[in-house]
Amino acid sequence: MFVHLGGAIAFSVLTNLIGLTYRDYFRMVNHFKELAIRDELTGLHNHRYIQSQIDELLANKQPFALLMIDIDHFRQYNETWGHVQGDEALKELASVLQEHLGEGEVVGRYSGEEFMFILPGSTIDQAKAKAEALRAAVERHPFPGEEQLPDRRITISVGIAHYPEMAEEKRELLMMVDDALYRGKFTGRNKVSLYTSVLEEMKKELAMNENDQEIVKTIKVFLNILNSKDRYTFAHTERDVLYAVALGKRLGLSEESLRYLRFGAFLHDIGKVEIPIEVLTKRGPLTHDEWEIMKQHVEIGVNIVKAIPSLAPCIPIIRHHHERYDGTGYPDGLRGTEIPLEARILTIADSFDAMTTSRPYQRKRTMEEAFTELRFCAGRQFDPDLVEPFIEVVREIGLLSESGEDAGAASGANGDPAPAKGTV
Ligand code: GH3
Ligand code: MG
Ligand code: MG
Repeated sequence: MFVHLGGAIAFSVLTNLIGLTYRDYFRMVNHFKELAIRDELTGLHNHRYIQSQIDELLANKQPFALLMIDIDHFRQYNETWGHVQGDEALKELASVLQEHLGEGEVVGRYSGEEFMFILPGSTIDQAKAKAEALRAAVERHPFPGEEQLPDRRITISVGIAHYPEMAEEKRELLMMVDDALYRGKFTGRNKVSLYTSVLEEMKKELAMNENDQEIVKTIKVFLNILNSKDRYTFAHTERDVLYAVALGKRLGLSEESLRYLRFGAFLHDIGKVEIPIEVLTKRGPLTHDEWEIMKQHVEIGVNIVKAIPSLAPCIPIIRHHHERYDGTGYPDGLRGTEIPLEARILTIADSFDAMTTSRPYQRKRTMEEAFTELRFCAGRQFDPDLVEPFIEVVREIGLLSESGEDAGAASGANGDPAPAKGTV
């Protein structure tokens, strides 16, 4: 009898032990599974998990939007306060993002100080609203020590891409969302930016046959080459387009003229693709011979674009964007109103952006200093009738600076309107 009881007790202890061990084992497995998809510092999902979620949505052909978030000037925050406090700020930011996590959405730390939201089932407009809410929430949120940053706050820039509206493949989507984010960075930071491609607009807005579309693809390749040779030119072109179109609108140009102004401004430096990289990115003034080589970009650009008949109205803009009002420019030495209006507009936009952003060998000017320079050169380099309208337009839209520092300084010190924030 005692033997039976002893055996029963031993059996139940044994089964309980085995049960416990199994429970622990499964708990442990789940714990490790969770660890594998979580970021240690912030507790958000990690890069690997985000990638797998994107893969899954694409495999199921489920529409979604991606938001790529990058902290503005974070290197400076780290340099001022050290990495330990930098890490604290990352955790703090992660909790702000987490508070905005809606049902079915995923948020993760994509890399060091970059975060990503996946918004399944979201439209582009919903994604824009979400991104804007995140941007505003971070701007409002107090972070310790943020007063040392250029804008005296921690802010984020957000890029948006959408499947399937913008692209069908992961690689392309990630490239687009990165591109959009970068656009926000070079137009002042603290911005939400949707991926847009002027080339796609060209294909849609101009009646292009298959041959033209093929050439647009070639232009895309050229732009990629130019971008990798000289990222400055690429970013600069995007700002030129925004300034030039804003001035064109102020002057009351027709929709048709504005369209070609936009495309012409976008393509005006495409000829630089054939300029040797040593000349293109030289630090220090160019020699006479190097200038002669550099000047060729105008005619090379015309030759590239000439291949697409529907872009013919852009050719005068590309050819004449280095003419000067007093007739001393190139390539044709046109003067005054002999220079097409769109080219005169672009010249101002192009020069103003060159003055207010960092060049390899030139100190960048503040907005007010650049206005003074434009006025000084009115009638010589620039059409005097366009300078004041341009200044008014820039005061309204704000300086499209590559650095928030300059924009902040210019707007704060002179009482000008703050640089435009929001969606670009
Ligand atoms: P931008 O406005 O152009 O984004 O300027 P940025 O200084 O933020 O430049 P970038 O986005 O390239 O940020 C890189 C910096 O982010 C480098 C490093 O100081 C910081 N960073 C990246 N990962 C971490 C991290 O895990 N911890 C901390 N504390 N800092 C990080
Ligand atoms: Mg970054
Ligand atoms: Mg950053």
